[in-house]
Amino acid sequence: MKYRHLGMAGIQVSELSFGAWVTFGSQIGEETAAALMRTAYDAGVNFFDNAEAYASGNAETVMGNVLKRIGWRREAYLISTKFYWGLNEGVNQKNTLNRKYLTHAIDGSLKRLQLDYVDLIFCHRPDPETPIEETVWAMHNIIEAGKAVYWGTSEWSAYEIVSALHIAEKHHLHKPISEQSHYNLFTRERIEKEYARLFREHRYGDVIWSPLASGLLSGKYNDGIPADSRAAQPGYEWLQKSGITPARVDKVKQLVPIANDLGCTLAQLAIAWCLKNQNVSSVILGASRVEQLQENLHALEVGPKLTPDVVERIEQIMGNKPQ
Ligand code: NDP
Repeated sequence: MKYRHLGMAGIQVSELSFGAWVTFGSQIGEETAAALMRTAYDAGVNFFDNAEAYASGNAETVMGNVLKRIGWRREAYLISTKFYWGLNEGVNQKNTLNRKYLTHAIDGSLKRLQLDYVDLIFCHRPDPETPIEETVWAMHNIIEAGKAVYWGTSEWSAYEIVSALHIAEKHHLHKPISEQSHYNLFTRERIEKEYARLFREHRYGDVIWSPLASGLLSGKYNDGIPADSRAAQPGYEWLQKSGITPARVDKVKQLVPIANDLGCTLAQLAIAWCLKNQNVSSVILGASRVEQLQENLHALEVGPKLTPDVVERIEQIMGNKPQ
């Protein structure tokens, strides 16, 4: 495993990390969750991603139980959580980054994770109704209270991130250090274009999510929807409708000969492609089975095979390089 600095922060994250969305607290049980986390950690993964909203808090509960059971040294790993959607109905408690919500949210997460602090809090989405200054101060105060070490953003516009950076600089507050962005062979515009200046001038970090477009780039949907796949899970009908379109599946099929030529799987090719981007600090993997994670961790060996010629072959198929 190799490690990359999280933007301009002193902390380093493993190039491949592991996240709990869809799986922890719903699709898989605690035993499988523990086996997945052990597999990741043994391969050198030092960063595990979660969110308050995943499985309505249950994903944090499962991860907390696993961490307690395994007993790794707390200094050796990083845990993130994310706030915005909220767990409770009612005004001020949902779809917000207001100071009161955030103050309660961190205490709830720490309780479920059974931790004294989290390493990273991501503001899961921008909140157009709360002044960015209020959120920056709330994050600063949570860090000063020792409940988190760093904070960042997820799916914020470059403008919103730079605003937060300027507010933090002006008042000498803890700055956000990293985005958590959607990035894969199908979704590129924001990281490769909108954030270019942010990476160059602010050395902002970025840990990226859904590197396989929810599994599509593993090729598992090339011949239909397997009954045990994410797209067949209750509540994920949107994935079949808008994610697994015939046009996208066609592109995935065209990538097969490239993976064959490199002697790797489609999933490994897609993950290695994400890591080729040096502005990516870490690729957050997802897996519902240990075998998937084992396969995906070997993506690290594919990176050196992505020569300019191979990358150009991929570009020709995808046809979506941001201009
Ligand atoms: P992926 O796009 O890599 O999808 C992972 C899923 O694809 C697995 O759960 C599994 O689903 C399937 N899969 C993975 N590997 C293979 C394989 N080798 N062969 C066949 N199927 C495979 O990542 P996720 O969408 O899970 O995102 C990763 C993490 O990113 C999340 O856990 C979360 O921590 C974070 N995230 C953050 C978001 C944000 O808004 N900040 C949003 C979404 C995710 P199955 O077996 O069920 O088909």
